[in-house]
Amino acid sequence: MTTVGILGGGQLARMLALAGAPLGLRFLAMDTSADACAGQFVPMVVGDWRDEAALAEFASRVDVATFDFENVPAESAEWLAARIPVFPAPRALRIAQDRLAEKTLFNELGIGTPAFAAVDTRAGLDEAVARIGLPCILKTRRLGYDGKGQFRLKTPADLDAAWVALGPQAPKVGLILEAFVPFEREVSVVAVRGRDGEFRAWPLTENWHRDGILSASMAPCADGAALEPQAVAYARKVAEALDYVGVFALELFVRDGQLLANEMAPRVHNSGHWTIEGAETSQFENHLRAVLGLPLGSTAAVGHSVMLNWIGAMPEAAPVLRSPAGHWHDYGKSSREGRKVGHATLRADDRATLRGELETAVDALSRREEFSGVISRLG
Ligand code: AMP
Repeated sequence: MTTVGILGGGQLARMLALAGAPLGLRFLAMDTSADACAGQFVPMVVGDWRDEAALAEFASRVDVATFDFENVPAESAEWLAARIPVFPAPRALRIAQDRLAEKTLFNELGIGTPAFAAVDTRAGLDEAVARIGLPCILKTRRLGYDGKGQFRLKTPADLDAAWVALGPQAPKVGLILEAFVPFEREVSVVAVRGRDGEFRAWPLTENWHRDGILSASMAPCADGAALEPQAVAYARKVAEALDYVGVFALELFVRDGQLLANEMAPRVHNSGHWTIEGAETSQFENHLRAVLGLPLGSTAAVGHSVMLNWIGAMPEAAPVLRSPAGHWHDYGKSSREGRKVGHATLRADDRATLRGELETAVDALSRREEFSGVISRLG
């Protein structure tokens, strides 16, 4: 019996465990909080990431370790990797944890990004803004997620406020200034690479964000054919450069038909949740197959899917459950502003049917406006 250890016990760990049960796998999650939602049915070790006793207990009870949470300190991942197999490897994690390191790598690989510059001081912010221009975004290099740790600068008057907001974090997590990209759309490639180097990507996914948090995804992307070969080639280059094992996501902006890389997530990703019902093999199952050295499953789409994220609180389930296209995922979390508490996926054989089912469901929830972008994309 193989036990997979997961660092982080959130909804991604929960969905990994759900996908792993048919493969006969057991799971152990580690989290800093005893309330982590995977703990509702996955055994857990609760401890700080730097607590060696907790890490040692975790290592003694698993055959292989992986991540639900990319901000596990790289030193803790290295400590574990010296004792048990850890995928993705700590080096890949370390680069993906740092927006400056990952954007530098993208550029080295010939992958375009928004213009960027490291910022360490208030004077450095002035210099970076002079070079990159306004509008731009100041972000923490490390430990930011879902738009947290970001400040948008529109006019010179915003520099002081940006520094008040993020300057105090500069010594600890570093800062990066990025040009603001007036993108037409956001897309992501969710891909998987096996221990033997086999690489597969799911169809390109189109994404919509609200307040920096993913709101909806649609796959396959409506005009993916024009963008997908380039996007997948970029993802493959990144995976090979990092000798990456497992699932990851590469988030890209589309501007004037060109792709610019925003960031990579070294784990299963919210924009790949649709694969549970909408692909032959889900991102969760293929991640487990990859880290265990098993053959990878097909990443082909099964029809057309839309994923709606539930942020803050779960809505009523019935309008989605009533739909023949509807699938419901409640992460078992308490409500809190800005928190991802669940999602729904609607899947149908063709776009017209999917649009009809989506409109009926969001109308019944009185949330059409929130998802108008994805509805209009369905033609
Ligand atoms: P991130 O945490 O970097 O993925 O940012 C969250 C969201 O903020 C992205 O998905 C975009 O919608 C937006 N965003 C981040 N960086 C930029 C940028 N340089 N230009 C325009 N929008 C951005």
